[in-house]
Amino acid sequence: MRLRLIRHATLLVEYGGQTLLVDPMLDDPGARPPIQNSPNPRNNPLVPLPFPAHQVGTGVDALLVTHTHSDHWDANASLLLNKQLPLLCQPDDESKFRAQGFTDLRPVLDETRIHDVRVNRTGCQHGKGEIGKRMAPASGFVLRTRGEPTVYVAGDTIWCHEVRDTLSRYEPAVIVVNTGSAQFLEGDPITMTADDVIHTCQAAPRAQVVAVHMEAFNHCLLTRAGLAFQLDAARVIDQVSIPNDEEWVEVGV
Ligand SMILES: [Zn+2]
Repeated sequence: MRLRLIRHATLLVEYGGQTLLVDPMLDDPGARPPIQNSPNPRNNPLVPLPFPAHQVGTGVDALLVTHTHSDHWDANASLLLNKQLPLLCQPDDESKFRAQGFTDLRPVLDETRIHDVRVNRTGCQHGKGEIGKRMAPASGFVLRTRGEPTVYVAGDTIWCHEVRDTLSRYEPAVIVVNTGSAQFLEGDPITMTADDVIHTCQAAPRAQVVAVHMEAFNHCLLTRAGLAFQLDAARVIDQVSIPNDEEWVEVGV
């Protein structure tokens, strides 16, 4: 397997002979206003895609959408992607995709299959307390198939018992974490901080962690360099990849 960061949380994952497109955010830079009540009020997305939006879905076999906040699913995604592609999602989002014209919806209550790949949905806490409740529902997904390492796409979550339980239940070899420490003007972060990534590394010391969800959306304040600095100080940097947009991550390399 290998995976490629396109931008933010948008990934191409080549896995078990399939190419999955995860959380496509395909809008042009500045297409949308900043998130309300958030710091760093700049229009979103902050940076362009590394190649034209209509090319992102080329060669894709299926879509996997962790939740439908606008940094994971946007107008261009709905407009440009092939509506006949299998679309794996959390059950709460099925009607939204159907209304947008997608026809092959695969809501994942607990487990589904896409060809030979088993896909399990996992829990998230997209923030603490009241903010977390308002952000819900969000999901993560675990991919498994014969001959490939188990991959955990954690989704928009902070470090929490759901993540810890997923690590012990599935023992993933690859963990994609949405970091950036996204936050509003008040309250705690709603995606992983550097400390949350460190907890993840320490709980799964043999796993390769891939850190994304940075530098593309206004309220994500943690940068790649800031994350790397803190991971280095905590002596877990060697197990973490922090890809740039467009960059492939080779697993096990
Ligand atoms: Zn997000």
